[in-house]
Amino acid sequence: MTHPVDRVIIHVTQTTYTKTRFVFESPRKKVSAHYVVRSADGHTSQCVRETDIAWHAGDWDYNTRSIGIEHEGWVDQSSYFTGVMYEASARLTAAICTRYGIPMDRTHIIGHYEVPGTDHTDPGPHWDWARYIRLVNGV
Ligand SMILES: [Zn+2]
Repeated sequence: MTHPVDRVIIHVTQTTYTKTRFVFESPRKKVSAHYVVRSADGHTSQCVRETDIAWHAGDWDYNTRSIGIEHEGWVDQSSYFTGVMYEASARLTAAICTRYGIPMDRTHIIGHYEVPGTDHTDPGPHWDWARYIRLVNGV
């Protein structure tokens, strides 16, 4: 079964990078995203292969057709959204979009809060979408 990927979903972890890695490596926890980006230095690690479905969106349709990227931080703490994290994440998103032919715009690069039926608010009001989309497009 193939799942055409047409969305990148932006998350914020609400915990530390280390704890996120730990939770995502526990197979019994049905939460995971494909990538996690660290706040301090933009270090990015892959938790789930892109060809595997990650349980990040909370909606089966969106889980199957999206790549999820978690960002270390909290929705109410803007200080975690560092320049290096934005840049590293944008490079990753740009590469994903190129790989799957996903348009690099806000229709296709969305926040978890935009997934239908979700009660999540991430990435929250401090996430700078204009800056992020600009970085993804390399301008
Ligand atoms: Zn989320």
